[in-house]
This record gives sequence, C-alpha cells and structure tokens, in this order.
Amino acid sequence: MAKTVDDGIDKFTRKLNPIAKTKNVLIEINGRKFINFCSNDYLSVSNHPKIIDACARSAKKYGVGSGGSRLLSGDREIFHELEKKVADFKKKESALVFNSGYQANIGIINALSKSFYKTIFIDQLAHASLIDGVLLSKIVFHRFRHNDIEHLAELLKKFQKGKSLVITESVFSMDGDFAPLNDIVSLKEKYDFDIYVDEAHATGIFGEKGEGKVEENNLSPKIEYIMGTFSKALGSFGAYFACSEEIKKFLINKCRSFIYSTSLPLPIVEANIKSIDIVQKETFRRDKLLYLAGKFRNLLAESGFKTPSMSQIVPIIIGDEKETIKISQILREKGFWVLPIRYPTVPKKQSRLRFSLNYSHEEDQLDLLIKVLSEAKNGEKYF
Ligand SMILES: *Cc1c(COP(=O)(O)O)cnc(C)c1O
Repeated sequence: MAKTVDDGIDKFTRKLNPIAKTKNVLIEINGRKFINFCSNDYLSVSNHPKIIDACARSAKKYGVGSGGSRLLSGDREIFHELEKKVADFKKKESALVFNSGYQANIGIINALSKSFYKTIFIDQLAHASLIDGVLLSKIVFHRFRHNDIEHLAELLKKFQKGKSLVITESVFSMDGDFAPLNDIVSLKEKYDFDIYVDEAHATGIFGEKGEGKVEENNLSPKIEYIMGTFSKALGSFGAYFACSEEIKKFLINKCRSFIYSTSLPLPIVEANIKSIDIVQKETFRRDKLLYLAGKFRNLLAESGFKTPSMSQIVPIIIGDEKETIKISQILREKGFWVLPIRYPTVPKKQSRLRFSLNYSHEEDQLDLLIKVLSEAKNGEKYF
C-alpha cells in the first residue's frame, strides 16, 4: 500500500515536499506518483531539449556564476541581447532584466514611487511582491476592490494628489481572471496616472505570439510599465521590466534590487533567449493549454462548481479552510497533486483549490479529476 503523503497541511503549517522524479506533469513524492496541478511551467518548456541545449552550451563555455552585479563585472553582451528581445516581444522601447519577479517588483515600485508618484492605487488581489514593493516605498496607497473599475475611479477622485501609479496583474495568479486593462487605460482621460501591469501569468500564453495581455489588447503604447517573469510559462528563471529607455536608465541608477545583487547566471540568460523563441514559435503549446483550460472550466460548470477563472489558472473557491484542506487530501489520495490555498495568500473565507492547467495534461486526466471532485462534493454542503 502506498504511504500517505505527510504534507503537514492538516496541522495548519506549511511544509516542503521534495519531488523525487518528474516527467512534465507526472511527479513522484515520498514514493507516490501524482499528476501535478500546481506547476507554473504551463507550457512544459522547462525541459525543452533546445532550451536545455542552449543552457548547457553556455555553461560549458562561460561557467555558471556571472561573478558580480551588472554594474560591476556581471554584465555581458548577452544580457543586452535578451533585453532587446524582451523589448521587441513586449513592443516597448526598452527592457531591463531582473533576477526574479519578486526582486523586480519590490525594487522597481520602491524606486519609481520615491521619484515620480504621490499615490499608488493597487488591485486588492495583487501579488505579494507588488504589495511588498508598495509597503517598502512607504508611499500613500489605496487598494481598489478586485477588478472593480468603478471603485478605482471613486478612489482616484477622492484621493488623487499629483501623479499616481495604478498597479494590477493582467492575469491574476489566484483567481485566474483578467484585469479590465482597456477600462483602466480609459480612466487616464480623467485622471493623471501611469500604469504598471504584472504579466507573470500571461506571458507566453496570451497574445498571438504569447506576448501577453497588454499586447493582445494593443495597449503597449498606453501602458507605461510591463513586468513579467521568465519563470512561469517561459519555463526558466528571472524577470523583466519593459519600459522607456529613460526609465531603464533611471532604474539602473536607482533600483536597489537591481544594483545590489549578482546578475543572473549566463546559462539562464541564454535559456531565457531561447525560451522566448520557442514559445513564440510553438503556438501549439498555448493552443492546447487554452483548449484544456476551457474544457476544464466547462466540466466544472456542468458539475456545479464555481470558478472566477478565464485562463489556465482555475481555482474553485471552497471558502472554509478545513473543508478545502479535506478535499485537497482526497484529491491527493487519488493521485492529483493540488494544494489548498488559504489565508494569508488569499483573503479569509476564500480558501480554494487552485488548479494550474498544463500543456502536458491529457483530457482523460481532466475527466477523472472532475469525477473525483464531484464525488468529494456529493453529500457535502459547502458549495
Ligand atoms: C510568481 C509571481 C511573481 C514572482 O516571480 P518570481 O520570478 O517567481 O520571483 C511576481 N508576480 C506575480 C503575479 C507572480 O505570480
């Protein structure tokens, strides 16, 4: 008999679960096999032979560590090549590479708000790294209700003093829904603000070539700042910030998380370049992913589950924390690796199971998952 996975989550603590083996979405933990529904490697390119090859060749040629921050001796031509590629991909004048999305958001928001903005307006469900950037900068800020454009307008009217910054994600990491980017841009006619969009979960997936939601909506000229990561659909590591050349120069001089940190390992930079190429070309990956996500959302609706999702991130909101943990345990017993997401990652009473769909999932796996979920739901009264 298989051992139970001691994930510790029933004790309300968080615990690490090292994965022993993995082949795309098939993972093995503690000797048990699971289908992974928690991976952000949405397009399964983290083990793409061409990306591995680019990375390995670079490691052999240049070694691993870059040896310093970009401003000391850690800069190489290849960073500039990557930045040019990102700028083209995102249809912005310029781009700057960061070591991680977390470092990008905390450093950039802090630097920008100290020099250019009086007030920040940020979506209530924005990622922790965005919130931490705001808190670090000690700027006056207001959180608008999630995707509520009227509430944003109301807050702007009441609290705007001087130029403001509006921050949102384009595809929300916990709800899987889309920000009303067009509406936010329209508000610029009445109020004086710039826009900062985090495309961590949109890059590689939305837009004709995976450029993201901003580009899909032809909004690149109207949105000043586009941040995103190489660590999710691009299957690699690190982050970028696409902006004007002037802002890039400013950040090189003022952004502490850029200045005071060793630059990315060169093999990773090489992998990031290759990954952008692959993701742009291999459109079949996002086509299948979005097909599977649509199918899964339909199956959920047919089975009476509710989800705010419009994307490959499909949460079902259970509400009660214990109930959420219980269902996630049932799912894991049946071989589906799904973890409960709860406070403080999401608001209290909004505990959820969050399914990240993947290019490597198969339709019959989704059918089985729905069957197990429906069984878990039957006889329960939490929906
Ligand atoms: C994952 C994520 C980040 C952080 O990116 P890392 O490269 O993992 O540090 C930032 N913003 C959002 C919305 C994310 O989902």
